[in-house]
Amino acid sequence: MQTLVLATANEHKIKEIREILNDPSIEITSAVDLNISDQLVEDGNTFEDNALQKARAVFKKTQKPTLADDSGLEVFFLNHRPGVLSARYAGEHATDEENNKKLLKELGPLSFRRRTARFRCVLAFVAHGVEEIVSGECRGIILEQPRGTNGFGYDPLFKPYGYEQTFGEMEPAEKHKISHRSKALQKVKPLLEGYFMEAGEGKK
Ligand code: IMP
Repeated sequence: MQTLVLATANEHKIKEIREILNDPSIEITSAVDLNISDQLVEDGNTFEDNALQKARAVFKKTQKPTLADDSGLEVFFLNHRPGVLSARYAGEHATDEENNKKLLKELGPLSFRRRTARFRCVLAFVAHGVEEIVSGECRGIILEQPRGTNGFGYDPLFKPYGYEQTFGEMEPAEKHKISHRSKALQKVKPLLEGYFMEAGEGKK
């Protein structure tokens, strides 16, 4: 069994990454399971900086192949805010509800055509001799009212283009077909396969 450490303490991200990777040959553990959440510092200006920073710190501590997810919502009318501050938009320990409320307040009665946004997910994979960064995005519209209780974060406000439901109304499997996280993870899969195959052969 191969082990992959997720450099995150976000239980929703852990659940989604497990569901999307869906690989019984990889044992997934997290910074929380390993009691090293203190390594998850994210003070960079970009998703890329933050993902790499978290993956490097956790890999340094564990010496195990590590995947970090830094993600968030970019609203075009707000010049790409909340961006890297998505989790802390309404304050350091803000809840999802508080962040959503702040976003709705900032957008006010703005017309639908100007409520365009995208979710971005940047994944950094760090292991022995490897540093890789990939990303995925999903574009849509920020509604005027939250809808649905599935998912997390800004999901109840985000309606992807071409769909009637928000991410908050979709079943997880539906969200995973089109989400930013899923698109980034599809790019990580071959990297993981290649790494674990080579690591296995190295042991022979
Ligand atoms: P991070 O932990 O700094 O990467 O912040 C991620 C934040 O972005 C989350 O706390 C959410 O507010 C938001 N976010 C990222 N991915 C999603 C998603 O799939 N759905 C809803 N919100 C998301």
